[in-house]
Amino acid sequence: MSRLHLHILGSGSKGNCALIEGPQGLIMVDGGLSRRETLKRMAELGLSADDVSALVVTHEHSDHIKGLEVWCKHWNGPVFSSRGTLTSKESLAHLPVEEFDPGDTLSIAGVHIQTYSTSHDVVNPVGYRFDAQGDSIGFATDTGALSKHAIDTLKDCRILALESNHDVAMLRQGDYPRFLQERILSVKGHLSNDQAADAARALVTDRTEQLIAMHISQDNNRPSLTVKSYASSLGATLDNELGSAATRVEGLHKLTIRPAGQYRPMTIQ
Ligand SMILES: [Zn+2]
Ligand SMILES: [Zn+2]
Repeated sequence: MSRLHLHILGSGSKGNCALIEGPQGLIMVDGGLSRRETLKRMAELGLSADDVSALVVTHEHSDHIKGLEVWCKHWNGPVFSSRGTLTSKESLAHLPVEEFDPGDTLSIAGVHIQTYSTSHDVVNPVGYRFDAQGDSIGFATDTGALSKHAIDTLKDCRILALESNHDVAMLRQGDYPRFLQERILSVKGHLSNDQAADAARALVTDRTEQLIAMHISQDNNRPSLTVKSYASSLGATLDNELGSAATRVEGLHKLTIRPAGQYRPMTIQ
């Protein structure tokens, strides 16, 4: 069986871009890094822009689309987004976008993609699950809550990339103005470490080998806190005092928990 791989070029409010490596090339998830930075980080992971066969977008916040216009000037593949997501942006309305409704399934480059609604303060936000040849990746960022449909969609993936945005106490005691705190904490904001840990309990199964903490706030969180929070909810043991990874072994089964970074690209095999 050839596996799916997840390449994360960057995750967080400074720019989001990831790539799903499937049987027929790469599917880019969001274009929130400059083209130059995208190419640089792809090269670091041994990836080529020629292999990007499609691009899917989660929502229209600038940290997810600010590189899209320039990227599409140099690249001819199809862009998929939910109805209204890119057409709501004047600068992107000219892109040849294939629109879908959340809940639709897509088939791109040999990968079956299940879309689902996320809960975020934009027009029509979505998350994705990617399946090919018996392998699966669940992808959920920028959502203040996960619906039952989202949970059902994301359950039982081998790789789960799940937002763990903020520590509530750090956010409350931090410098963000009150309105911004409320926005982040709201049902249309971002998942906290505690919310993500609760969701992980429902989503992680014997099949799950990799749990990646996504979209970690640089001001109101620390990567080690996300790992510790996931680890304590799932009964995993920290690999080191720094809390940079945790592992749970049950019989033949091994789950690894790691944080995604804003600046350092990573590949999840
Ligand atoms: Zn974002
Ligand atoms: Zn967002």
